[in-house]
Amino acid sequence: MKDQFDYCGQCPQCESYELTYGGFVNLETSYYPFVCDACGCRGKEYYTVDFLRMESDTVEEHNEKLRSAGVHNEAVSDFHEDKL
Ligand SMILES: [Zn+2]
Repeated sequence: MKDQFDYCGQCPQCESYELTYGGFVNLETSYYPFVCDACGCRGKEYYTVDFLRMESDTVEEHNEKLRSAGVHNEAVSDFHEDKL
């Protein structure tokens, strides 16, 4: 078993590109968990994450998050007061 493999998007065991990724994990280290569709190998694809900037959501983005969360509010004019 190879401990390290330096090719992004490729299985470290069989070198297949047929990987299925899970959600991004950003803890002490940042990575995408993956499962190789070809050989079943499971692992983590590590990333460095650099801070870029802070930005507040627009009213449209906020309403879209509420819609996708199944919340059906009418107008959300005071959303900066809300906890996201
Ligand atoms: Zn594989």
